[in-house]
Amino acid sequence: MSTNESLGHTLIRADLNSPIQNKTIQDNFRIIKALEHLKKIRENSKTVTFTSHLGRPLGKDENYSLKPIAEEMSELLGEKVIFIDSIFDQHIKSNLERNPGKVFLMENIRFYQEELDNDTDFAQKVTSNFNTFILDAFGAAHRSHSSIVSFGKYINSFQGELMSNEIKNLQKLTNSPAQPYTVILGGAKISDKLQLINNLIPHVDNLLIGGGMCFTFLKIKGYNIGKSLCEDDYLSTAEVLLESKHGHKIHLPSDFGVTESIERGSRVDKNIDEFTDQDIGVDISMSTIKEFESILLKSKTVFWNGPMGIFENPNYKLGTQSITEIVSNLNAYTVVGGGDSVSAIQMFSNLSKFNHISTGGGASLKYLEGNQLPGVNIYKPLIL
Ligand code: AMP
Repeated sequence: MSTNESLGHTLIRADLNSPIQNKTIQDNFRIIKALEHLKKIRENSKTVTFTSHLGRPLGKDENYSLKPIAEEMSELLGEKVIFIDSIFDQHIKSNLERNPGKVFLMENIRFYQEELDNDTDFAQKVTSNFNTFILDAFGAAHRSHSSIVSFGKYINSFQGELMSNEIKNLQKLTNSPAQPYTVILGGAKISDKLQLINNLIPHVDNLLIGGGMCFTFLKIKGYNIGKSLCEDDYLSTAEVLLESKHGHKIHLPSDFGVTESIERGSRVDKNIDEFTDQDIGVDISMSTIKEFESILLKSKTVFWNGPMGIFENPNYKLGTQSITEIVSNLNAYTVVGGGDSVSAIQMFSNLSKFNHISTGGGASLKYLEGNQLPGVNIYKPLIL
């Protein structure tokens, strides 16, 4: 298979972390992205081995095994991916030598506490089986773990193309984005995104807020939000933001799909000033969608992270579906920041209708918060 083996045995730290239920992968977006540049790497390697985390296991836990990921990779590549059970297996080197041209996957790297502790002996031991290391796990680049910041100290190392591509695209949002620049934020918690809001708000023209996180803002504005999600610890922070000189850029929903029982799944639509004490806001509604649409249609750059409602329930999907469709058809530079927004696009539209879909939910937010991520730009880019 190899035409030039100058990289030797190559180890790639990828982010293959995917939602799995009953050993079945629910969404293979990250796996597909991790394999996108594999062909060229294989042409220059004796073998290629992937390493990745999955979830947050506490030690070795079969529920977090990467075996289902190996099966999915085998299916996508149309050939068997060889699974390496233990990173400390003494026979890894001979296994690689016996299988030239093959692709391997190692078991969950977070089964080893040394990974989380950024243990350098661990890094040296794991990488001693390989000649080249490629860091391509953008989704984990905000973690100072051994495979992110230490593996590259011991062998010839590069930054992978997926990672370089992520940075190039996210930089378009931080370096003079075309204006008007609109950010759409949703999802459950304001606490997760507060730092991002603080960092972005001076640079954006509009901040559209939906999902569960808008209710903390609406409560401090004096509305009765019933039993909607609210983080009372963040009320004063929300107030400071609304009253700041950038407060006018924040657009909050004016109407919602509401229910008295999320489990029963009923829905009525009402204005925010009509909420009863029992109401739970579960989705944005038509007037809000229209207002958000008119802002989006004028925008030249759009970043979106987080659903507008509990879109997993078909009765509460209207807002998220509508925003997905509107952003899909914009004549603007559109970037989506991982996680649930990617699932929504897969449900309601097409990934190819966006300029960039980040593989890193948390990492892309951390990057846009203005942080220097520990794993970004620490190795020279791989150019093949
Ligand atoms: P996050 O991980 O913070 O982006 O949150 C994503 C989750 O937020 C999804 O599972 C949604 O179901 C949930 N969500 C969105 N809108 C609401 C809402 N109004 N109330 C409760 N949960 C919501």
